[in-house]
Amino acid sequence: MSASLAEFRIAQPNTVKEAVAACLKHPGSRYVAGGTDLIVNMRRGISGPDLLVDLSGIDELSEIKTDGRGVTIGAGVTIAALARDKAIASRYRALAQAAAAIAGPGHRVMATVGGNLCLDTRCIYYNQSEWWRSANAYCLKNRGTVCHVAPQGQRCHAAFSGDLAPALLVYGAEVDIAGAQGQRRIPLSELYVEDGKAHLALAAGELVVAVHLPAAPPPSAYEKVRVRGAIDFPLAGVAAALTLSGTNVGSLRIALTGTNSRPFLLAGTEVFAGRPVDDKLLQEIDRLVQKQVQPMRTTIASANYRRVAAAALARRLVSKLTARE
Ligand SMILES: Cc1cc2nc3c(=O)[nH]c(=O)nc-3n(C[C@H](O)[C@H](O)[C@H](O)COP(=O)(O)OP(=O)(O)OC[C@H]3O[C@@H](n4cnc5c(N)ncnc54)[C@H](O)[C@@H]3O)c2cc1C
Ligand code: SF4
Repeated sequence: MSASLAEFRIAQPNTVKEAVAACLKHPGSRYVAGGTDLIVNMRRGISGPDLLVDLSGIDELSEIKTDGRGVTIGAGVTIAALARDKAIASRYRALAQAAAAIAGPGHRVMATVGGNLCLDTRCIYYNQSEWWRSANAYCLKNRGTVCHVAPQGQRCHAAFSGDLAPALLVYGAEVDIAGAQGQRRIPLSELYVEDGKAHLALAAGELVVAVHLPAAPPPSAYEKVRVRGAIDFPLAGVAAALTLSGTNVGSLRIALTGTNSRPFLLAGTEVFAGRPVDDKLLQEIDRLVQKQVQPMRTTIASANYRRVAAAALARRLVSKLTARE
């Protein structure tokens, strides 16, 4: 049974400043970019803003710019435009691979970079119709009091499942955020919090404006496991960036999505610098991933499958990047 969309109004600002002002003026309003996440959630009664602030008419958000310091990708750039950008594909391979693996072609022409970074967290007890959720007394993340995944706890474990974030994290990306106090720039890693109910470190009315990537990225790659190969969120998604010094590791960064309530950079990979990429090192990477991921029973695949799959993807990516160098 599908419910009809509740009534709402739309504001159509032409600048970032106007968008932030509109959102601040109407508590409870939401930004909408491609709408491929938000409108689905509104349809399910999960979210019910009475005003949507539409970002699609803001030209300054929709550019990819390159200069000597690197690449700036506007939050309104579509996933399809990102996936087909030749400069991105040649230098930021993990990012192009992640973009190409998001949803289906019809979604990608609407979906945006900003919407992907600010995607709501997901759980099989949450991404359901109103009647399904009401029949199960809702849950802690939305209108209920108990988490069905971890009933003894007081925290939501819904998983962040955006594909772009891990790819951006391995390059050390930064994000520009506009809000009531003007604009600020933070490392992308600081945008996220390990809490499925409030996973974004954004104040009321704050808008993600752009992502910055450094000019000389290390070689990188991204892979994900999903239920349906043609269209699906990651059960686990891994990005890796590796430089070699001779046959040894120069630097290694690994980032993950789909397993925790936030995308995150794997801690402790700096100890691999100077070591050859052999079975021992790959086993250590496997252990590190398995220790730091925290998959819970939030998808139709088991938590343990996602833990083991994440570790296997990390090992495989490091092997592939080594062979390619
Ligand atoms: C069938 C299906 C399959 C999907 N598969 C995948 C997948 O494989 N991988 C994946 O990553 N995603 C997937 N998605 C989710 C979604 O399509 C993408 O994540 C998309 O990039 C979201 O972007 P959007 O512009 O449509 O976001 P919207 O729906 O417009 O917005 C999403 C959220 O971000 C907020 N927001 C949007 N822009 C900004 C901004 N600039 N600043 C602050 N907040 C903002 C909105 O308020 C909203 O809360 C799928 C969706 C569907 C329906
Ligand atoms: S993890 Fe728990 S609180 Fe969070 S969405 Fe799932 S059931 Fe709800």
